[in-house]
Formats: sequence, C-alpha cells, structure tokens
Amino acid sequence: MGVVGFLTGGGIGPLVRTVGASSDHVRAFELVNGTGDVLRVTPDEHAELFWGLRGGKATLGIVTAVEFDLLPIPEFYGGAVYFDGADAAAVLRGWAHWCGGLPETVNTSVALQQLPPLPGVPEPLAGRLTVAVRYAALGDFAEAERILAPMRAVAPALMDTVGVLPYAAIGAVHADPVDPMPVYEDHTLLQSFDPAAAEALLAVAGPGSESVQVIVEVRQLGGALAREPRHRSALCHRDAAFALTTIGALMPEIVEVVPVHAAAVIGALGRWSTGGQLPNFAPAMDPGRAARVYTEDARHWLAALAERYDPTGVFRTGQVVRT
Ligand SMILES: Cc1cc2nc3c(=O)[nH]c(=O)nc-3n(C[C@H](O)[C@H](O)[C@H](O)COP(=O)(O)OP(=O)(O)OC[C@H]3O[C@@H](n4cnc5c(N)ncnc54)[C@H](O)[C@@H]3O)c2cc1C
Repeated sequence: MGVVGFLTGGGIGPLVRTVGASSDHVRAFELVNGTGDVLRVTPDEHAELFWGLRGGKATLGIVTAVEFDLLPIPEFYGGAVYFDGADAAAVLRGWAHWCGGLPETVNTSVALQQLPPLPGVPEPLAGRLTVAVRYAALGDFAEAERILAPMRAVAPALMDTVGVLPYAAIGAVHADPVDPMPVYEDHTLLQSFDPAAAEALLAVAGPGSESVQVIVEVRQLGGALAREPRHRSALCHRDAAFALTTIGALMPEIVEVVPVHAAAVIGALGRWSTGGQLPNFAPAMDPGRAARVYTEDARHWLAALAERYDPTGVFRTGQVVRT
C-alpha cells in the first residue's frame, strides 16, 4: 500500500498499541492544495492542515512529500501462528479470552483467511480456510514468548513464523500481498470482543459459513493508540478496543456477493460495534462514511478547512469530507 494513503488515514501499523498511530510520528507534509499552492505543513506552519492531514485522507489536497520520525526498533518478537480452519472455534474463543490481559508491548490480531492458491502463498495456507494469530511485541522477548505460549497451545499449528526478527521483516506479521489487487473492504470498530462475539463471527465467517472473504480480521487496539498524541489529529475513535475488517477480492464471479456478505459479517457483530470506523478501513464509496469515520466536530473542521483551501472543489471526490 502507498505510504501517503496509509498515513493520511491515520496509519494503524503492526505495533500500534506500543507506538501509537503511524501518523502520530509525522513531522511534515508537502501539500498541493485546491488552489494549486504548494504548502509546507508542520505543527508550526499551517497547523490546522497538520491536524487535518493526519486522518482526513485526501480532503485537503494532494500530499507530495512526507517526513516522519524513525523509531529505534532494530528487532521485534513476532510473526504469525497459523491454524487449520477446523480449529477456528478453539482459536477464536481462546484469542478472545487471552487478549483481555495483554500489556501494550504486545500487538495482536486474529484472521480467518481463505487465501487463493497463487504463487507466494505457502502451500499449507492455500485454497482452504485457515486462522492466523498475528503477533508483534517489543521489550523483553523472553517475556513476549511466554505471553504467546497459551495461544500457541490452543490447537496444532499448520505453520509458526513467530520469532525474533529484524524490523525489516515486520511484513511477516500480517503477510499481506504486496502486489496491487482489486479488493472490497468493510469495517467496524468494536467496544469489546468476548467469546460470544467469537461465536457470532464464526457463524458468518467460520467453517461451513460459505464466507466469500479472503480475510476477516479482528485486531486489538488500545494502548498507545488510545492516548492523544503530542499534536492532536483528525484521526477519531482512538478509544475503540478492537477493529473488525473484511477484505474480499473483487473477482468477476463474486463481485456482487462480496459487499453483501461483508455487510452481513459487520452486522453479525452489531451488538459489540461502536458504530465508528477508521479512515483506512471504511468502505471508500459509502455515503455514510464521513459520519462513521469522524466525530461531528472533526467533520465540521475538515469541511471548513476544505472550503478554505479548496474553494472551487477540485478535490470534491473520493474519500473527502465536504459540506
Ligand atoms: C490487504 C490490505 C491490508 C491493509 N492493512 C492496513 C493496516 O494494517 N493498517 C492501515 O492503516 N491500513 C491498512 N490497509 C488500508 C490502507 O492503508 C488504505 O487502503 C490506504 O488508503 C492505501 O493507500 P494507497 O495509497 O495504497 O491507495 P490509494 O487507493 O492510492 O489511495 C487511497 C486513498 O488514500 C488517499 N491518498 C492516497 N495518496 C494520497 C496523496 N498523495 N495525497 C492525499 N491523499 C492520498 C486518498 O484519499 C485515496 O483515495 C490495508 C489495505 C489492504 C488492501
């Protein structure tokens, strides 16, 4: 994915509970606004745009350069433990229980996956339902290994890639495809994810559910993400406990079905939903998007800034907030 799309959507990285949103580490943007001016945007120069660009996606213009802090993290303890889909109930129930007591040095998500048998997809994971427990921890690696032990023991693993890895291998945690592909994402934030929520998810995306999604992921949030950063931003809903996201491939034979099934998955967790969404995971073309992604206050300010910096509406399309 593109670094600017990621950062203007807040940036929920694999260490988000430990280091906060990736956009919290941005120092400066170069922006081309709706009147064609090139602006340097920092906490001290156009501070209102610095607030709005971190979460506001393309509302305020086109970002042409970005500067951000590099964190001193040479290594992490992480990767993913993959289980057979037949063990999905044990894994999801176990994960829901286990992640209740995790310190913020630990980041985790659980994903029901149906990866296609394509080059690059490991044979044990291809063409079948599997469950990935993603894990990334900083700090004491022996302690991180001890914390993961109960999840490793929940069922026999098909593959286990967790270990001490150089930061350059952080992609091993989510193992997302690196090539562009047409996908449909749906999403909601959750206030909790308990064993009853796990049951509800299994019914729509687990074994025998006829799910058409490539990935259905529940990611634990909280920790450093929940705290306001040094420079406040337009990234809202920092207090949510979990994020539920579906990713489906828009192949011609299922193009109609993927969004309908995604809505069913999101709806099944309605009891646990906050009703909010994060900008990077909310469906791009949903007319109700702005109301779900931003608080009323943030929406008002983003729209007012867009009027000021793009009075003729050059960027009035896509993932933008306008009145
Ligand atoms: C498999 C998968 C896994 C993902 N995992 C994560 C994750 O872990 N964490 C996370 O936060 N997100 C994740 N995402 C979401 C991803 O961050 C967003 O889709 C992001 O918008 C991708 O940006 P892009 O530039 O690649 O895409 P594009 O389609 O090019 O851009 C998407 C949007 O970003 C904005 N944008 C892009 N470039 C610019 C620019 N130069 N100036 C201003 N606005 C711009 C625009 O609003 C644009 O419509 C994932 C997506 C997929 C498909």
